[in-house]
Amino acid sequence: MINMSKNILFLVGLVLLFPAYLPLASAGGESEAFNLKQVADGIYLHSGVHVDFDHPQHADIANIGFIIGNDCVAVIDTGGSIAIGQELLLSLREISKLPICYVINTHVHFDHMLGNAAFLSDDTKFVGHQKLADAVEHNRDFFLQQFNADLGPTPNRDSIIGPDLTVDKTMDLDLGDRIITLTAYPTAHSGTDLTVLDQQTKTFWAGDLIFRERIPAFDGKLLGWLAVLEALQNEVINLAIPGHGTISNDWPETFAAEMSYLTMLQDDTRQAIAEGQFLEEAVDSIGKEEKQEWLLHEQHHSRNVTKAFTELEWE
Ligand SMILES: [Zn+2]
Repeated sequence: MINMSKNILFLVGLVLLFPAYLPLASAGGESEAFNLKQVADGIYLHSGVHVDFDHPQHADIANIGFIIGNDCVAVIDTGGSIAIGQELLLSLREISKLPICYVINTHVHFDHMLGNAAFLSDDTKFVGHQKLADAVEHNRDFFLQQFNADLGPTPNRDSIIGPDLTVDKTMDLDLGDRIITLTAYPTAHSGTDLTVLDQQTKTFWAGDLIFRERIPAFDGKLLGWLAVLEALQNEVINLAIPGHGTISNDWPETFAAEMSYLTMLQDDTRQAIAEGQFLEEAVDSIGKEEKQEWLLHEQHHSRNVTKAFTELEWE
């Protein structure tokens, strides 16, 4: 009896610790492992967790997934380590045996592309923004140094895979009776932002142009980012998948909170500069009231103000 209740306690503990590995009831083509969910017809998403870059789960913070056509599959982002890429591949293979014709990276950040090497195959083309190849070269040593443990048992320069097909403005890819439209943007959240629109379901993979719940962070240009978001408001989109945070079918409300945060950064930073404040003063004063609104505010907000300040002081 005592043993039995111990076993039950052990099982309950397991479930609490690893809810992602619970079998899904009537799982309609969903994968039990890796918490993969079908969010639209033939579109599967693994949602990232909201932890910082130094957390043990830092390789699993981005939303990643795939779209299945009649002939082949397109993967969108591969996670922040080769292990995460392999988990995505394994769970994809539980759902489809079709070739993976494209691995699309929405931008150069580690959490979206260090899993690429898991998908190396003769069938597969790696796709990204026109500037992605250069950005990967630029970041290769940094990635190797900073994320060495995430790059497999023998990390080396070839563990980081750049694109062999790049997008200048827009490009349609056919997955077999299923067209997806890739769009490359001028510098916004990063210098290599690329989105994917599935024409059949009007599902929009926004990459990190959209953050929800987790505080937006950028290494591109604040004004460029705001301009892209403004233009996106007029798109017809049924379901939005942000780079971080929950999916939404309420467009353009999906990114209203982000827009208001970025607009505050722009307005308050301009005002601080006009008042002759120094960078340190601006960092201390801007946007403190937004603290409750965003996860990881503490870790990333000051850097956002610094970025905004150095961009806007030259206006
Ligand atoms: Zn990201």
